[in-house]
Amino acid sequence: MKIALIAHDLKKSELVNFMVAYEFIFKNHELFSTGTTGTRIMETTDLTIKRFMSGPLGGDQQIGAMVAKNELDLVIFFRDPLTAQPHEPDIIALLRLCDVYSIPLATNVATAEILVRALEKGDFSWREVVHKYEDKEQ
Ligand code: PGA
Repeated sequence: MKIALIAHDLKKSELVNFMVAYEFIFKNHELFSTGTTGTRIMETTDLTIKRFMSGPLGGDQQIGAMVAKNELDLVIFFRDPLTAQPHEPDIIALLRLCDVYSIPLATNVATAEILVRALEKGDFSWREVVHKYEDKEQ
């Protein structure tokens, strides 16, 4: 599955710890992230991540573009709900696109944990059906 990872500054350590805990699952998937988030995760784990631009410089929009093309199967976005973000419109746009395309989205560690365990159990296989159907349409 293709998974996007984003964390606001005050949530980056929490996401890094989460990635360490579930590295055994994430290593079997294709990972994407915003710039600084990906650097932090790669510094601490053996995971390889395709990094986009930093969030405030357009990284959220680059991930949003993948969502709009139905290319992502899961978005894990540890948002900081207590700090104003200069790129709030980009964040809202990304969350909106996940709802438009019914992409599983976790905005906090509790939800992320449930989704990652579901991923391990194979509960995301319906995404393969979506991709197969899309391939036929093209
Ligand atoms: P960053 O971007 O990973 O480059 O810090 C995340 C964000 O703040 O949206």
